[in-house]
Amino acid sequence: MIPDSASYRLANVRLHRSLTPGLSAAFDSDGFALADIAVADGRIAGIAAHGKSKAQTGAIDLGGRILLPCFVDCHTHIDKGHIWPRKPNPDGTFMGALDATGADRAARWSAEDVARRMDFSLRCAYAHGTKALRTHLDSVPPQEEISWPVFATMRETWRGRIDLQAACLLGIEGVRDKAWFERLAKRVAAAKGVLGVVTYMVPDLEELLDQVFAQAIKHGLDLDFHADETDDVAAISLKKIAEASLWNGFDGNILVGHCCSLSRQPDLEVLDTLDKVAKAGLAVVSLPMCNLYLQDRRNDGTTPRWRGVTLLHEMKARGIKVAVASDNTRDPFYAYGDLDMLDVYRMATRILHLDHPVGDWPKAVAATPAEVMRLDDAGTLTAGGSADFIIFKGRSWTELLSRPESDRIVVREGRAIERKLPDYAELDELMVG
Ligand SMILES: [Zn+2]
Repeated sequence: MIPDSASYRLANVRLHRSLTPGLSAAFDSDGFALADIAVADGRIAGIAAHGKSKAQTGAIDLGGRILLPCFVDCHTHIDKGHIWPRKPNPDGTFMGALDATGADRAARWSAEDVARRMDFSLRCAYAHGTKALRTHLDSVPPQEEISWPVFATMRETWRGRIDLQAACLLGIEGVRDKAWFERLAKRVAAAKGVLGVVTYMVPDLEELLDQVFAQAIKHGLDLDFHADETDDVAAISLKKIAEASLWNGFDGNILVGHCCSLSRQPDLEVLDTLDKVAKAGLAVVSLPMCNLYLQDRRNDGTTPRWRGVTLLHEMKARGIKVAVASDNTRDPFYAYGDLDMLDVYRMATRILHLDHPVGDWPKAVAATPAEVMRLDDAGTLTAGGSADFIIFKGRSWTELLSRPESDRIVVREGRAIERKLPDYAELDELMVG
C-alpha cells in the first residue's frame, strides 16, 4: 500500500488535532480531521486538509484510516523483560515481584542474558511502531557494571530505529552510600542517561532526595522517579520530590512514575500535593497495566476493588504534563505485555477513562513523553519532520481501540518497515535451569 519510493502522497487519512499542531481543518467531535500528507525524501513535505492541497496524480486514497505519529514509550524495563518463564511472580504481589526479580538478577543477569532480552524487547517495540523509548536499568551493585555497557552497545545498534534513553534504578536507601552514588551519577552522565531512584517513606527521605538533586545538578542530569507504588495513604514521596525540586531550585526535567497512593488520600492532601507538583513543573507517567496487575492484589479469595492508577485527570486539569507508558513486560511485575503502545493506550482508555471526550489524551503516548525526553522530532506530525507514522485500519476511536490492529502499517522515514515480531522460542535457551 505504501510505495517503496522516495516521494508519494497519501490522501484521505484521519489525523488527530492533538498530534498535528500545524493542521487547520474541520475537526470532528472526536478530534479527527480528514487530511492529505505529502512525503518526500523520508520527510513530511506537507500536511493539508483533505482535498485542499494541489491535486497530484498517483495519490493513495486511504479511505479515512487513522494515521498517528510513531509512539514514544517513556517508562519501560527492558533489562527485566521476558524473564517470566524462568522466574514468575509466585503470588502476583508487589513484594513477590521485587523478591523474584532480585533473585533472578543476582543469579542470571549476565551481559549476554541482558542483551538478548533487551534486543527481543526492542524488536517488539519497533514492530508495533515505537520510535523512542526510555528504559530503567536496575543499578544495584554489581548490576550497574553489567547493564550500562550493554545498554550503550544496544543504543548504538538501534540508532535510527529506536532512540534509546536509560535511567538508573535503585531504592532510595542506596543513595546513603554517597561515594558509590556519586560514581553511579558519573556513569549515568557519561552514558547521557537520566538519574533515577525509587522513593518510599524512609525516615531520612528529605536528606536523601537532597543528595539526588545535588548529584543531578552537579552532573547536569534530568531525573526520573518511581514514587509511591502502593496503596498506603502515608506514602507521600511525590510531594516530597516536588518540595525538594522547589527548594533545590532544580531546572531540569523531572518525570515521576506510578504515584498510586495519591488516589487513596484525602482531598485536601491531594490538592496540596498537586499544587506543589504543578509549581515544581514535574511530569507524571501512569503505568496503568502494571498498576492494575499489582495494586489491590489480594490473596484471600476476594476481588480487587481499586484500579491502582494515579489521578491523571486532575493532574492534566492543572497543567501538569501527563503520559502513559508500558512499564514491565513478561516479568514478575507484569506477566503480560509486548511494548505495544497501542495496547497501552487502549488499556489506559479503559482503566483511566481517557474518552468521552478523548480531548488531547493521545498526546500522552506521543507528544508529551517526547517533550519530557527532550526529543526534537518525535510525537507529532509536522511539515518538515521525519515521515515516521503508523497507519491503522480503524477510522474512529471505537474501531481503533476494539481490535489489536495487528495489521497496522508502520512507516519510518517514509518507508513501510517489515513488522516481524520475534518468536518467543528464541529466548527458550535463556529460560532453562
Ligand atoms: Zn517502572
